[in-house]
Amino acid sequence: MPDIALRAENLERRFGGLRAVAGVSLDVRRGEIHAVIGPNGAGKSTLINLLSGDLAVTAGDILLDGRSLRRLGPDRRGRLGIGRAYQKTTIFGASSAFENARLAVQARAGRPLALWPRRRAEQATDGLAEAALAAAGLAARGGIRADRLSHGEQRQLEIAMVVAGGAHVLLLDEPLAGMGTEEARTITALIRSLKAGRAVLLVEHDMDAVFALADRLTVMADGRVIASGSPQEVRRDQHVRTAYLGH
Ligand code: ADP
Ligand code: MG
Repeated sequence: MPDIALRAENLERRFGGLRAVAGVSLDVRRGEIHAVIGPNGAGKSTLINLLSGDLAVTAGDILLDGRSLRRLGPDRRGRLGIGRAYQKTTIFGASSAFENARLAVQARAGRPLALWPRRRAEQATDGLAEAALAAAGLAARGGIRADRLSHGEQRQLEIAMVVAGGAHVLLLDEPLAGMGTEEARTITALIRSLKAGRAVLLVEHDMDAVFALADRLTVMADGRVIASGSPQEVRRDQHVRTAYLGH
């Protein structure tokens, strides 16, 4: 039995007459990167918003370890371990990278540290924040103001904050967008390292990165799944090649 962390069942979201997500089912297993690809307007970001709770579903369900999330808001889902890297919105530019990571630890699932003696809680918080920065390749950058970090380092910091928050299901919407080649390489390696013990859903346009990272792939078009399987299976799918990969 695959170890399924997150499952979407017949998810649907309408905007007026438009079915942006029109009956999508997929699962994300612990220890894997499941990539979702498809042309602009396919419904990929809407799918992520439904999974994170930023958008309400019109129909269908979302299960985290078998438990329905359908009626829970994004904060509750976050406390249950669903982490989403927003583009910059969670970073406080005037605070250091370390301070941002500390804030993410303090907001983490269940707040177990709140019950500890203050000094021990502070030490534990610092330790978790340092570990998250190190895991994201920012060990030497903790003292830098977040708004002085490069574009790529800010993306690394967002990921560090999701990790610091204790997430075990990660939702990443185009993490490589706007990155230079070198930055993209760093973020790609970072994403690969995240799947140990976690389930990662990755929406990404950079096909080199997708085929380098994904354990499984789902292809969407017009709100629907048009193909899914291993990267090799999807690459061979003639329908996907003509509809999307363009050859
Ligand atoms: P993708 O991320 O694959 O490019 P989106 O999920 O952003 O696609 O969009 C899917 C479709 O839903 C598009 O036609 C888009 O215009 C529409 N859409 C997305 N968000 C909204 C919204 N808040 N209101 C109305 N239409 C939306
Ligand atoms: Mg999108």
